[in-house]
Amino acid sequence: MAYDFDLFVIGAGSGGVRAARFAAGFGAKVAVAESRYLGGTCVNVGCVPKKLLVYGAHVADELEQAAGFGWTLEEGHFDWGTLIANKNREIERLNGIYRNLLVNSGVTLLTGHARITAANEVEVEGQRYSAANILIATGGWPQVPDIPGKELAITSNEAFYLKDLPRRVLVVGGGYIAVEFAGIFQGLGADTTLLYRGDLFLRGFDGSVRTHLKEELEKRGMDLQFNADIQRIDKLDDGSLKATLKDGRELVADCVFYATGRRPMLDNLGLENTGVELDERGFIRVDEQYQTTAPSILAIGDVIGRVQLTPVALAEGMAVARRLFKPEQYRPVDYQNIPTAVFSQPPIGTVGLTEEQALQAGHKVQIFESRFRAMKLTLTDIQEKTLMKLVVDAETDKVLGCHMVGPDAGEIIQGLGIALKAGATKLQFDETIGVHPTAAEEFVTMRTVTR
Ligand code: FAD
Ligand code: NDP
Repeated sequence: MAYDFDLFVIGAGSGGVRAARFAAGFGAKVAVAESRYLGGTCVNVGCVPKKLLVYGAHVADELEQAAGFGWTLEEGHFDWGTLIANKNREIERLNGIYRNLLVNSGVTLLTGHARITAANEVEVEGQRYSAANILIATGGWPQVPDIPGKELAITSNEAFYLKDLPRRVLVVGGGYIAVEFAGIFQGLGADTTLLYRGDLFLRGFDGSVRTHLKEELEKRGMDLQFNADIQRIDKLDDGSLKATLKDGRELVADCVFYATGRRPMLDNLGLENTGVELDERGFIRVDEQYQTTAPSILAIGDVIGRVQLTPVALAEGMAVARRLFKPEQYRPVDYQNIPTAVFSQPPIGTVGLTEEQALQAGHKVQIFESRFRAMKLTLTDIQEKTLMKLVVDAETDKVLGCHMVGPDAGEIIQGLGIALKAGATKLQFDETIGVHPTAAEEFVTMRTVTR
């Protein structure tokens, strides 16, 4: 049967755009439907605007450090409206770039909500299209627990478009988004409290990293409240919000920001017309080649709930394009040793196993850990410490994990990701010549086993 398209991609986010462009480049006839914004979460309400706000918040650090280097600055003033307007302009520019990328690679771009009507058919704005393959790349959406007053809270989606910087913010959650936005709000001058339901935030990250970041955030004056959770939110007469915690305490703020995870975006997607099954967490179930339980339908990215990171969605999009239209170039995505950064203040960079994971996997480990005050701070009164840590297999000498909390951690960890992927040993780290004077050289000069 002749179909309108070889591949119909639903969602022009990180994964969808990558799959569509490369499939078209391999000669396939491709359509992409996008209901909201080109570039998806990452470009519009994720990585990119977040990083721009992080840069904005970081300026406060630079200003604080300036005096030590002889600079006398007049009283600074921060204007949230200017930052948001400039950020919006940059996002619009990127939206245009994504449009050109798609159109110039020969992809048919359809604007509107896509709904699957049959195993090989998608409807957009009342028009039906047939396709040999359908790729679901619809991403995720913030999830807020169902508590009284939840409609008074905001999520990352709204935070990027707030009219004013709130004076007092309660951030709820202990994952990437909570920690990053708490740093943004605090850095830009808001009184910031972070509430996390467990003992210590960033579950799944290395224990030393979690503790170190906690200490550094406290030094910066952030109010961290662990084992704390909101039971209800009420609006007060003066417009501020009162959060009543489960332990009965009451906190008042101008903004309650929830970052309690993201659900798959399946709204009105028409999955009931297909044989697509969900997994126990509600994400789309796929096999190792991203095939759903319906043979003509594939899914990638946040909607499959594996690793919710843009570079992973990109890699999955590429794998699907190759598998369908260039099988001789197909290589499975390697989910081992994915480097990642949390753009907190100071940031975290990490790749490989945490100490806890290495022990649990049965490795005998040697831990090399270093804490130091970065050279840049030596002319200032700032007492922030950088943490660097290597987890090494004591039997094979292989470096299992690298972890860092400190300036430029994301930039530094990318290179270490290559080393780990190549299977580097501690001896090879030791034999690598350092770049002096940098903080990064500490990763090749740690000689004494800490544990
Ligand atoms: P998305 O990028 O979400 O794209 C899905 C697209 O599908 C959207 O454009 C949506 O409008 C569209 N869509 C949905 N349903 C339909 C439909 N029925 N019809 C038509 N279109 C539809 N990752 C990092 O690696 N680094 C970071 O620093 C980082 N920061 C982040 C910060 C925040 C605040 C958030 C929320 C996420 C962040 N992420 C980061 C995660 C990253 O954004 C996601 O992992 C990535 O965008 C997932 O890509 P995707 O293609 O699966 O989905
Ligand atoms: P995460 O899954 O990272 O964190 C969710 C947090 O909310 C956890 O601390 C979790 O606690 C807590 N939580 C979950 N449910 C509740 C609840 N009902 N009540 C109170 N707390 C709750 O999600 P995020 O929303 O922070 O981010 C989503 C994903 O986006 C990230 O996992 C990451 O993959 C990606 N991302 C990546 C970034 C980057 O690369 N820098 C930046 C931002 C996002 P517990 O641990 O106890 O379950």
